[in-house]
Amino acid sequence: MKGFNFKTAVNTKEATKLASGRATFLAGGMTVLPAIKLGLAAYSDLINIKKIKSLSGIKVSSKSLRIGATTTHAEVASSKEVGKSIPSLSILADGIGDPQVRNRGTIGGSIANNDPAADYPSACLALNAIIHTSKRKIPADKFFKGMFETDLKKGELVESVEFEVPEKSAYSKFPNPASRYALVGVYVAKLKKEVRVAVTGVESCVFRCKKLEEALSNNFSPSAIDSVNISSKGFNADIHASAEYRAHIIKVMAKKAVSSC
Ligand SMILES: Cc1cc2nc3c(=O)[nH]c(=O)nc-3n(C[C@H](O)[C@H](O)[C@H](O)COP(=O)(O)OP(=O)(O)OC[C@H]3O[C@@H](n4cnc5c(N)ncnc54)[C@H](O)[C@@H]3O)c2cc1C
Repeated sequence: MKGFNFKTAVNTKEATKLASGRATFLAGGMTVLPAIKLGLAAYSDLINIKKIKSLSGIKVSSKSLRIGATTTHAEVASSKEVGKSIPSLSILADGIGDPQVRNRGTIGGSIANNDPAADYPSACLALNAIIHTSKRKIPADKFFKGMFETDLKKGELVESVEFEVPEKSAYSKFPNPASRYALVGVYVAKLKKEVRVAVTGVESCVFRCKKLEEALSNNFSPSAIDSVNISSKGFNADIHASAEYRAHIIKVMAKKAVSSC
């Protein structure tokens, strides 16, 4: 493991200023630290953002729920406000990894990292989220670009994630039994103007499933999913599951999600 400088930023301006060259932000460290230890990544500086007060916390209004970037998964899972406003989000947060990961990992770190099997990116797409950064507001539809790739520019900090409060929503995950990452995760949301369905764990990046959205827009019930044909073309295939199996599980998880809405 190579050495690095450890710096703590006290505000967002300082954090973005420090994040130049081969520096990276450090939130929960649940991805950064294993990556460094395993020799998969090397940085000159780790910029600790956990001391920036404005980056944590949860704010609710009748239309939206805003979660600060350094809010941990455990805080989201146990928040009464989240449980009341978007219960499916509490369930999602409670199903991430294990207690250690949930007590360290943050929503900002999760979406900035954009692991193809992470849970939060599906919530962002399904709940039509706006990602507030140190520079701009990015709609979730434009944020997730590819495998471990987002629209964030070098030194741009995620400050908070604002979710639309849905009429109904649910998240169903078929987890990898070891890591709890999604083999397949399906987030279904009935918003005021549209139905959105986001799928994680299946391709190199989270995506919206237009076929399921169409079927559920016409008839928001589990039976509407029966006639949808999901092609496995381009889906992930690995030691855990074939592409065809993942295609099958998408429908199973989507039905489960709609049933529990
Ligand atoms: C054993 C294990 C099991 C896991 N299981 C799951 C699971 O089931 N589901 C799931 O979704 N995830 C899972 N995770 C991932 C975990 O939940 C974390 O969300 C994730 O590792 C990143 O969050 P973090 O706060 O630890 O970020 P860090 O590791 O500190 O940072 C990750 C990346 O994001 C950047 N970053 C962090 N915060 C910001 C910010 N505010 N703005 C811009 N960039 C930022 C960092 O620079 C870095 O590049 C698991 C991780 C482990 C180790």
